[in-house]
Amino acid sequence: MSFSKESITRALRGVPAAGAGGDLVSAGVLKWVSVCESYVSVKLLMPAGATPGDIGQVTSMTRAAIESAATDEGVKLDSIILEFVSDAGDVVRTARFGAPAGAAPGQQGSQGLQGSSGPQDMGHRPIGGLADTRGAGQTRAPTPQGAVEATPSIRNIIAVGAGKGGVGKSTIALNLAVGLARRGASVGLMDGDIYGPSLPTLLGLGAMEPIVVDGKLQPFLVHGVKSMTIGKLVDPDKPLIWRGPMAHGAFKQLAEQTNWGELDYLIIDLPPGTGDVALTMAQMLKLSGAVVVCTPQKVAQDDAVRAAKMFQQLGIEVLGVVENMSFFIGDDGKEYDIFGKGGAEFMAQRLNVPFLGAVPLTMGLRKNSDDGNPTANFAGGAITRAFEELISRVEGQLNLTAMKKGRGPTLTIS
Ligand code: ADP
Repeated sequence: MSFSKESITRALRGVPAAGAGGDLVSAGVLKWVSVCESYVSVKLLMPAGATPGDIGQVTSMTRAAIESAATDEGVKLDSIILEFVSDAGDVVRTARFGAPAGAAPGQQGSQGLQGSSGPQDMGHRPIGGLADTRGAGQTRAPTPQGAVEATPSIRNIIAVGAGKGGVGKSTIALNLAVGLARRGASVGLMDGDIYGPSLPTLLGLGAMEPIVVDGKLQPFLVHGVKSMTIGKLVDPDKPLIWRGPMAHGAFKQLAEQTNWGELDYLIIDLPPGTGDVALTMAQMLKLSGAVVVCTPQKVAQDDAVRAAKMFQQLGIEVLGVVENMSFFIGDDGKEYDIFGKGGAEFMAQRLNVPFLGAVPLTMGLRKNSDDGNPTANFAGGAITRAFEELISRVEGQLNLTAMKKGRGPTLTIS
């Protein structure tokens, strides 16, 4: 039996809103409820002038109300995430009850859900997910011993992955690359999706042919980005069936035998799913982090969770999750919530990784992709705003990761 948003909202009508008068729902304090099987996420407006005692009380009453509603409906909850947000929607405080995604079974208390660390069960997570982004129960493989910085002149290597195909992974990788280049960075884009390379189309490479100079592939320079794709090295009409060692070789060749030169960023578009190419990449390259692309639907989220966990197991920091095709913007400018906006954000919360933003589904983006003209995505409007925000958040997370590793901010892009 699944728990519903309605059941939670009903339960929260019984929780008084500290300082605001009335209950959490009637006072407008309840901002967001999301439930996915046994995982619940609630956002409450941080009451102005609330004391830590008030917040602690609201937290414990909210948790008790949700747990008791779940028990009444015969639902066993795995986790409740309670976030207090500012008027602007920024998360200012987080409380987490229950096991984070990936925790070993049996970590929860038998009497309801156990809280996260901190006084009054308040796990404080600053804005943007500054806390350690790993779930407590997750293990990370150490960086493989053989990992070498194959390309020491590349300052940041970012992999873009997805649990399944068709969610817009290549589109996000491409626009991340183009947007970073437009901010003045020197950027490479590698089509590591050796099973279904789409960058020749998305970049509009047309009839351009690869050139080899001194035994090295010269990247294509289009839209301000240096790019290389297997799609230009094999017959485009033949299916790309690679066995493990061949896939390894193809990826290695693209990474190592392309004359990337000095780069601020190398963005790698990975094949969908979890597989040998990602393993090859982790063994070969020192990654700065990975971005996971997901659409809002439940089925896409489950696959994306697997992709994120794969990165973590490979010792690669997950910079965050992007929700692509979050909602549809029609020609009339109206927004249509087709797939149930917010699913990926919820998934990011479950995984305890940052949410990097939502990219809408628009005819313009589809057309610019088919036309091989990503530059047009930066001409203004909703898509430009979505990509700019995404890029800023990725830059922020990279800086943060570097600081956590004790390297200090490394980006000098203004
Ligand atoms: P993947 O790499 O995950 O297989 P692609 O990036 O190739 O997916 O995208 C699949 C198709 O969906 C492409 O035609 C692309 O232009 C289109 N697409 C992706 N994201 C959007 C979006 N937000 N709005 C409109 N079309 C999109």
